[in-house]
Amino acid sequence: MTSFNNPHAEVSLHSDIHDQVEQQCELGILICKICGQVIDTLPTNGVKKIYGVCSGTDCRNINRGEKQTQ
Ligand SMILES: [Zn+2]
Repeated sequence: MTSFNNPHAEVSLHSDIHDQVEQQCELGILICKICGQVIDTLPTNGVKKIYGVCSGTDCRNINRGEKQTQ
């Protein structure tokens, strides 16, 4: 007889672990400090909010110190 490895069971076990790891990893949120938009999520060790600058022209100008008069 051929060796029977039941590959389906192995695959589903592997994807279970992968799902758990992915859920635990997406805890960091990258937020634009100018407009407050969520830019991205990052795998971090614990829940964190990280402030950055999004790709918006206004946000980049303001971040460079070219503050517009309000
Ligand atoms: Zn922004």
